[in-house]
Amino acid sequence: MEKHKQENRQGLKLLSTSKEWKLLYYQHGRPGLEERRKFKGLCNQCDLQSLCGLPKPEIGVWRCEHFRAKIFKKSSLHKNVLKLLEKAQNVNNFDRDICKIMAETMNELVVHFPVTMNDGHVKMLTGYRVQHNNALGPFKGGLRFHPMVDIDEIRALATMMTWKTAIVNIPFGGAKGGIQIDPADFSPKELERIARRFTFALGNNIGPEYDIPAPDVNTNPQIMAWIQDTYMSTIAPDERNRCIHVVTGKPIESGGSVGREKATGQGIVFCIEKWAQDHGFNLKGATYMVQGYGNVGSWTARLMKKNGSKLIAVEDVTGAVRNKEGIDPDDLAQYVKEHGGVVDYPKAQAIDHEVFFNTKADIFIPAALENSISGDTAELLNVKLVAEGANGPTDEEGDKVLQRKNIEVIPDILCNSGGVIVSYFEWLQNKRSEFWELDEVDSKLKKIIVSAYERVRDAAEKYKVDWRTAAQIVALYRLEMVYKERGIFP
Ligand code: NAD
Repeated sequence: MEKHKQENRQGLKLLSTSKEWKLLYYQHGRPGLEERRKFKGLCNQCDLQSLCGLPKPEIGVWRCEHFRAKIFKKSSLHKNVLKLLEKAQNVNNFDRDICKIMAETMNELVVHFPVTMNDGHVKMLTGYRVQHNNALGPFKGGLRFHPMVDIDEIRALATMMTWKTAIVNIPFGGAKGGIQIDPADFSPKELERIARRFTFALGNNIGPEYDIPAPDVNTNPQIMAWIQDTYMSTIAPDERNRCIHVVTGKPIESGGSVGREKATGQGIVFCIEKWAQDHGFNLKGATYMVQGYGNVGSWTARLMKKNGSKLIAVEDVTGAVRNKEGIDPDDLAQYVKEHGGVVDYPKAQAIDHEVFFNTKADIFIPAALENSISGDTAELLNVKLVAEGANGPTDEEGDKVLQRKNIEVIPDILCNSGGVIVSYFEWLQNKRSEFWELDEVDSKLKKIIVSAYERVRDAAEKYKVDWRTAAQIVALYRLEMVYKERGIFP
């Protein structure tokens, strides 16, 4: 213990092999792949400090998986999803038997599969695909690569996909999947083998007319292309080209749609614009802060720029930065591309997690992981509107605090539905061998998401409930109708 303290005073890398954990302390930056491989359970900001005696690190150092878990995993996401279902059921007196169906997932697949690493050793990995409901159409939902992925999370996210597709009125059901890995631990070649082997393990449990994956946290168009290629390689040659829509969010050349990459962010911005219009709120000069600067966060920030709004604070897994004069979203996106995160961005000041949440702004866009707005962080928030880009970013306590503080919320299942809407367009284009122009994609997206927004707003007024409950009511209403019309087989 003494040794660690000494070395730290000298500003050296610290290495500990304490009984429970191996700890590696970096004063700056994210450890490289080889270093991370050697030391699992990296820690520099979490409670393990008391275990190893390390002093509180400087702001802006890389955050460990353990710290992320501490921020985001305080409550079960699935439990929250079920509580909301129950609340909506009671408000509108939905059919209890149908709600019983909605409370369960239809299929849950857990696969364990081997992948050969670059050095020749074999690693066993665990992947999940949960199919919640397909009453409205094929199962649809993203695939996530993250160390915190587990069945509870995937179950919840699959259920939320059913609500989302129902709210926006597109012919899909709900599903979600993922692999419990940190992609930063693997080389691109290893990631390709992981994606392909996972697809092979899923086999016919996915398919263009049955269950269609898409990108989510830490997955991207390249990974979708590997999944597409693997799936197509395992079916009869004369069927292959009828299957290009087995995934959406593909690269354009492989059958992707223009506008899909930015679609979730674009949908969020359409919702914020509609909210501003309804409230007579001028977005020009309005300030906003974003948590998560990946696909959803960075695109939302970049598209908000067109409204003349000012990005003033950003947090991602590497740290948080703030500049009250404004941060250029495109410049920051370029920086994140080159450096892997917002940490040490030279045109803003480093701030810590609490200061980030306490920043005064008009709009907060959580676009990272679930449960980031807890009771504690919601108390710190000083904004008018939370536009939920992430899935499940607000836990039950957080929600109560937001309501008490009269902070308005555009809930996730409405606000971030732009991604699945444009996935639907991509799927349709593939089926029809068509290629739509960006204007067509954007205008159709706007029409669908704005009318969903209006349905949720009207339900909130009619039932005198918060928007989250209203969104749930809109989804349940559509699903209940379908079940009542068709009945329960046999
Ligand atoms: P991404 O992998 O591109 O980006 C995730 C971002 O979250 C990164 O910037 C990462 O640094 C940040 N992050 C992770 N842990 C964090 C932590 N502890 N503190 C702060 N930031 C942290 O993922 P994405 O596709 O942008 O997805 C983000 C969220 O949006 C997820 O909840 C996802 O389910 C949801 N979503 C995504 C889509 C889509 O089309 N990609 C659609 C709908 C909803």
